[in-house]
Amino acid sequence: MGVEAHVTLMDRQTFKLVCEQCGSLTVALPIEAQPDPCSILKCGRCGSPRGTLQSLRDTSIQAGIRHPV
Ligand SMILES: [Zn+2]
Repeated sequence: MGVEAHVTLMDRQTFKLVCEQCGSLTVALPIEAQPDPCSILKCGRCGSPRGTLQSLRDTSIQAGIRHPV
């Protein structure tokens, strides 16, 4: 399986690091002290949904990024 096929397959469950609408990397993080993993994070620029908090964590782990949350 190629990388592109894998990405397409996982698209709905993978956090969009780059906004599809405006290309921004900015994400509006939830302000709750203990946000629900299923909370949808929105683009910090245009407000488009980017994926769930859980998917962000999963994506960050896969990408080797240490996320402070
Ligand atoms: Zn956006």
